[in-house]
Amino acid sequence: MSFNFPSQVPLFIEGEWQQSQSKQLIPVTNPATQEVLTQVPCATEDEMARAIASAAETFKSWKDTAVPVRARIMLKYQQLLKEHHDELAEILCQETGKTFEDAKGDVFRGIEVVEHACNIASLTMGETVENVARTIDCFSVTQPMGVFAGITPFNFPAMIPLWMFPLAIACGNTFILKPSEQDPLTPTRLVELFEEAGAPKGVLQVVHGGKEQVDTLLTHPEVKGISFVGSTAVGEHIYRTGTHNLKRVQCMVGAKNHMVVMPDANKQQVINNLVGSGFGAAGQRCMAISVVVAVGKSQEWIEELKAEAQKIRPGAWNDPEAAYGPQINPQARDRVLSFIEKGKQEGANCILDGSDCTVDGFPDGNWVGPTIFTNVTTDMEIYKNEIFGPVLCVVNVDTLDEAIELINNNPNGNGTSIFTGSGGAARKYKHEILVGQVGVNVPVPVPLPFFSFTGWRGSFMGDQHAYGKQAVRFYTETKTITERWFDDSEEAALNMTITMK
Ligand code: NAD
Repeated sequence: MSFNFPSQVPLFIEGEWQQSQSKQLIPVTNPATQEVLTQVPCATEDEMARAIASAAETFKSWKDTAVPVRARIMLKYQQLLKEHHDELAEILCQETGKTFEDAKGDVFRGIEVVEHACNIASLTMGETVENVARTIDCFSVTQPMGVFAGITPFNFPAMIPLWMFPLAIACGNTFILKPSEQDPLTPTRLVELFEEAGAPKGVLQVVHGGKEQVDTLLTHPEVKGISFVGSTAVGEHIYRTGTHNLKRVQCMVGAKNHMVVMPDANKQQVINNLVGSGFGAAGQRCMAISVVVAVGKSQEWIEELKAEAQKIRPGAWNDPEAAYGPQINPQARDRVLSFIEKGKQEGANCILDGSDCTVDGFPDGNWVGPTIFTNVTTDMEIYKNEIFGPVLCVVNVDTLDEAIELINNNPNGNGTSIFTGSGGAARKYKHEILVGQVGVNVPVPVPLPFFSFTGWRGSFMGDQHAYGKQAVRFYTETKTITERWFDDSEEAALNMTITMK
């Protein structure tokens, strides 16, 4: 498929695709070639104001749209996303460099959230208790709140916007999406398909830009809530500013995910799963495994892990031999390379060094090869920071207790896994670990959308998490109604008199 991307990504305001008047443009490049695919405008003040006003105005009618009508739009949307699955994945590959299979997964995980949103009637059902006092009933309903905004990262340009707007809108809210400026073409196509599915004008708006545009959303009184996914530093700014302005805010942020390898685990499964979860997507997943906690004798398997990791390499999106793609931009690649350099200076043992990585035919790509450090200690910068590249750090410990203590002392709590043959070790780990998403012999335990994406501690700010029942709570208010009806018919009055006699 060949694409004719527009020279500038349009905004979607008041239900119309429109060219921004902004002079501030950010180039979007293909990370494997540096070819400029398009440019993203930073929406002007007036464009931001129009997007917010249109979302607020549309809310007045959308909130009263029948729930089955909203659900049917989601059903149609799911069908369209499936029909355009490969096309969306190919667009995604151009702007992220992901391999085609990985890109299809990015789209599919988003489709699953839309499938969840099709059940919005059941998800928003309230509760009833009859006779809370004599002849008095009490029940709750969930109601939408108004305008929500979503700010999304580069690393899942299909899945993460789809974590947000379908559920928010199915709940009866209107939504303003501010996608990552690094890969806005996939979200643009997602929104075109949403329009095609029958979403009324104004229900969803798309604005582009960076801090200035996000700050407008964070401070505007019409915006009732903010969903953010991205780095910890930006998330902290968003959480502080949003809550300071009395908004509901959820921030899914950075990670450092550990895999505990027990000596009784299946060695080959450990190695295969570490190669996939440590280096897949070039390590640019918030659920990537970046630290191996090798317990006791499992430390002897690292040489074999190295041998397997040496067999894989990055490459272009349509190269069937490529295990993963490039880093998203040259700065991200340089940042990963500087961590590799730092790790060497800090005294970790770099047993596999991917810093000098080239890919035939793609001299300008942001490539980093698989990299493994052993003898890593918790005071090292390569341990303390989220590298977000294909770099695995191996930390040695003697016991499961030590492994648990080490992980619980790390500020992040997004995901973790344990590989073991022991039910007892697994039970202890599941119970004691202070991480919100735990895999047992599953390396990347991302919950499906009928659960929620439940990162803990430094990896999350807020209380209701992304998608699942928690997202429905995030995007709605609960109203509790206590009700009594007097029966003032003549017959009732007569009965009442008889009873009183
Ligand atoms: P990022 O924080 O740089 O950008 C995320 C979004 O915030 C973008 O839309 C960007 O335009 C906007 N932004 C950037 N600077 C801003 C500022 N100063 N003020 C307001 N908005 C700003 O993140 P990224 O590099 O695109 O994504 C990678 C990060 O996202 C990693 O840390 C990764 O762990 C995290 N992530 C977390 C999850 C999760 O669920 N916990 C999922 C995916 C990615």
